This record gives sequence, structure tokens and C-alpha cells, in this order.
Amino acid sequence: MPIFSLLVRQASLRLPPVPAPLTSMTTQRWHSSAEFFELFPRGYEEGLFIQRSAEMLKEYGFNRVNTIPCVAVCRDELCQPLLNHIDRAWRSRYNTGGVHFLMSSLAGMIFLGRTGMEAALSHAPIDEHGVERFVFYAFPHIAVSMTGRIGASLRPGRSFETDVCGALCKIQRELQAGTVHLETDANDVEQSLLKQRIISNLNLRQPLPSLAGLTHLVHKIIAKDLNHLIEQCLRDKKPAEGRRIDYAFVTGVQIHGANNQNYLWPGETYVFTNSMKHPIDVTHEWLSDFPAALTFSSTTLLVDP
Ligand SMILES: [Zn+2]
Repeated sequence: MPIFSLLVRQASLRLPPVPAPLTSMTTQRWHSSAEFFELFPRGYEEGLFIQRSAEMLKEYGFNRVNTIPCVAVCRDELCQPLLNHIDRAWRSRYNTGGVHFLMSSLAGMIFLGRTGMEAALSHAPIDEHGVERFVFYAFPHIAVSMTGRIGASLRPGRSFETDVCGALCKIQRELQAGTVHLETDANDVEQSLLKQRIISNLNLRQPLPSLAGLTHLVHKIIAKDLNHLIEQCLRDKKPAEGRRIDYAFVTGVQIHGANNQNYLWPGETYVFTNSMKHPIDVTHEWLSDFPAALTFSSTTLLVDP
């Protein structure tokens, strides 16, 4: 896996000079960000999104009793409501000791490795036919503040807005400064790995990404890394052990809107059951009847200061 090869890199990457001063997305006004809506054209209220995902997965045999959700979100407390929604959707009278398996690292990255995934794979209920079922949820995040700033949030008890996602904002500032330290810092392991994964997937011939662009890229990396880990630990291995594992893959980006309203932009989503992969068109198939008030657009999220 690329992550492990990157662990041994001990170098700093000097980026080419930026041809023109970049506008910091952490200070860019919400209403001026056409790019944000190009990347995330729609978002759905996260509680309803998760509830619908659980309802939809019933058609494929997943239910509260026979399924364990495995979740990757950022460590930020702003992400906690999503975990609560997932627990509510999958809680049964049997899993009162805990509902979800936590895969999370900074920015929602997948750094649990084979050891972590193997642990998760030994925790699912086994139904009467011997089938084990998992739902993998993975969401990096970004915020829009009350004053319309992308990548910022006014947290309780603070008089000024702070970065969201802080880990990605820090890397974006390094990129804009032109020097990115790629060595693995033993005292900052998750941030080091996050940086390495981003640089490995960044097209250095293109202009440096905005925070929205960086968040979109990180979603792609998370989906790729999670797919890779699943293939390595689950899809290729478990059938040989005589185990049947069905799983759902639900990824996207968590968007913290103004007034503490969270939305999910749907990314890669599919179901793998009975050795067959079934892509799911989240937007058109099972969320098309979402109430308009629970989706966001350029006008519903904007709150003028
Ligand atoms: Zn974060």
C-alpha cells in the first residue's frame, strides 16, 4: 500500500513558485465560491441521509441485528453528530455495548491498516446462513461559517472562527508557502501520513487546490484507500476461508452549514453482496424524494452576517 512505502520517505518537497498570489479559501466568502458548488452541488441533511441509507440497505439484506457499521470521520467534535446518527440507524437490542467500529484518523483518513481492519472483520454478527455484514461509512469534512466563510466555524465559547478541517487547512497553508515537509514525524504521525497521501495524489502541474478542492481530493483518497484495504483484507481473503461477507460502501463529504446544520454530499457508494458489486446512484435512486428544505443550495446555506 502506498502509505507504507511513504513511511520511509525522509525528504521535503519543494514546490514550484506559485505564479500569482492565491486567495486563501479560509478567508474566501461563501457566496463568491462558485467552485464549492461545482464540487459539491448538493448536500442532504445528514440524519435523514443516514436513515435512508439504512432503509435502502434492507433491500440487500442488511439490518440492525445482522450488521455492524464501520466509520471514518475526522476527530473533530463537529463530526460527532454523524456518528450519533449512524448509531441511531443501526442500534438494536443486541448491540447496546456499542454500535459502530471506529476507523477514524485526522481528516477521516483510513490509517487503521490491516490490523485494524482485521479487528473490525471479526466483530460482525453472523446470521443463520453464516453471512457477516458491514457498512463502511467514510466522510472527510468542511464547514461554512455563520459569516459565510468556507473552511471556518465559530465553536461554542470562542469569539473567533477556527479552521475546519484544521488538518487540511494546515496542509493547504504549507502548500501555499511552497515547502511541504514529507518526513514522518513520530510526534505527529497522522498529520504526516495525511500529507504524504495528499502529495502522492496531487497533480503538481495544476494550480494548487483550494480548500474545497483539497477536501474533494481527500474524499477520493479515502475512498481509494478504503477500497484497497477492503480488497486486501476482505474481498480476496475471506471467501478462501469459507466466510461470506457482504458489505456496503457509503462515502462522501460532511459539510457543516450555518446554524449547526450538517449535510452530506454523496460520493462513491455501492453494495457488495453475494460476490457481486451493485453501484448505487444515491442522488437519483433513493434520495430523490428528499424534502427541499433538507438539501442545501447556494441560497439555503448562506447566512448573511
Ligand atoms: Zn477535521
